[in-house]
Amino acid sequence: MTLTVSSSNPIPADLQSAKIDSHRPLLIVDVDEVLALFMAGFQRFVERHGFEMRLTKFALFQNIYAKGEDNHIDMLVGKTLFDDFFMSGGKDMDPAPGAADALANLSNQASIVILTNAPEHGRDERARWLKRHGMDYPLVINSGLKGPAAANLAARTQKASAFIDDLLPNLSSVAADAPQVKTFQMVADPRLRPLAPSDPDNHTRIDDWTLLHPALEQHFT
Ligand SMILES: [Mg+2]
Repeated sequence: MTLTVSSSNPIPADLQSAKIDSHRPLLIVDVDEVLALFMAGFQRFVERHGFEMRLTKFALFQNIYAKGEDNHIDMLVGKTLFDDFFMSGGKDMDPAPGAADALANLSNQASIVILTNAPEHGRDERARWLKRHGMDYPLVINSGLKGPAAANLAARTQKASAFIDDLLPNLSSVAADAPQVKTFQMVADPRLRPLAPSDPDNHTRIDDWTLLHPALEQHFT
């Protein structure tokens, strides 16, 4: 989704505390639309607050309307809803089917780090959500493109690394900053799949964890 990003500085403390075994492969994985059905959860949340979502674009606020209105909500209203969702909307959001099982299985062979662009005020809610859904892995809160953080993490293993995200700018950023990392694109919400910009020549596109799981296993062995 298009959401303005400010800087490309991950919080160094998060990166430092993420444990990476230099003798194991590394999986760096996004949350929204990869481990979590973000759009469906955000839709429930905004509908509870009297808005409606008409999913016609690979975008966020441009799909949200006050009930019966022709024009989408403005950026400021969207930002308020978005901030509130990250603060308290975890209960509205379901995990992507198969994600937790795949990670549990992959954690037998690889280190796993969750790299998310959640706002800092959403850290606790996000950590609780991940734990509740069986995905309690080291969490790095990032801001901006993910290449610098992925490069930092991947430099700490001698083995294969992989990165999964739904957003092409993040995939391109990682490919540029950490070319040794294999990039996979996943778009968990079936409604967003046809809308999401893709570059399958450079980033393997697999939208289903039952297929992504064996592809990762193969890359790591
Ligand atoms: Mg995402």
